[in-house]
Amino acid sequence: MSEAVNQSGASGVYNCRWRDLARLAAGWRGLLARSLLARPLWAGPLLAHAWPASCLVCGSDGGPSAQASGGLAGLCPACAPALPWNRHACRHCALPLPASAAGTVCGRCLRRPPPLDACHAAFVYRFPLDRLLPRAKFHDDLAAGRGLGEWMAAAFAPVLACGRPDALVPVPLHRERLRRRGYDQALELARPLAAGLGLPLDDGLLRRVRATGPQSRLDAAGRRRNLRAAFAVDAARACPRHVVLVDDVMTTGATLHAAARALRRAGVARVDAWVCARVP
Ligand SMILES: [Zn+2]
Ligand SMILES: [Zn+2]
Repeated sequence: MSEAVNQSGASGVYNCRWRDLARLAAGWRGLLARSLLARPLWAGPLLAHAWPASCLVCGSDGGPSAQASGGLAGLCPACAPALPWNRHACRHCALPLPASAAGTVCGRCLRRPPPLDACHAAFVYRFPLDRLLPRAKFHDDLAAGRGLGEWMAAAFAPVLACGRPDALVPVPLHRERLRRRGYDQALELARPLAAGLGLPLDDGLLRRVRATGPQSRLDAAGRRRNLRAAFAVDAARACPRHVVLVDDVMTTGATLHAAARALRRAGVARVDAWVCARVP
């Protein structure tokens, strides 16, 4: 019976809102519960400035400071040097390359040029990113998201020498998935990234207009098909000239490419992508 009510008119909308509020409350309850029970998770964004933080990777005490960890907040001095920075990579898809080939274009991008002018990944997707990113994405760990966004800012600051973008645009979730999850992990990364670099954040320009199935079990061609017509640009908005898409993980790049094509169709002249971690 409640299903019938949910699917009809104003009552459905009303119930959806209550469901959203209940999920939001559950998310915050979970965050607060973990804040008391699980040490690496208790430094939520609202609490980080009030309480000393523990290391996001190993959970050790001692109030890790940015100064002690090479400018990276939320890391102890032992974990900071072990981060797998993606220092040498293809400039169009961020695929890790040997140091001698850094800044060149990989064979795949030469054969099939992607719709991105440039693509940068802060890290290679391996430990501890393979723990931190799922925590930020699926387990409401907003402290991990904030830390990762700040480390991305450190990684991408030198990229600004090649031109400051007009807007950072997080790759959006479809509204149904956003309702289920309660937050958008790309936006949670983009917020501290934009603040750290002093760049405008625009999370309203691009919309995900088609709910797509999970990409993880599809091959490259299947991922492209899955994302056809998935994104649209708000036609009422003035398009920035230079946009940087922000996302958490890049595997084949199908999601970023679909988003970039939508932005280009809308008139954006230059589209880059900055991702937290690249799957090699
Ligand atoms: Zn540590
Ligand atoms: Zn490439």
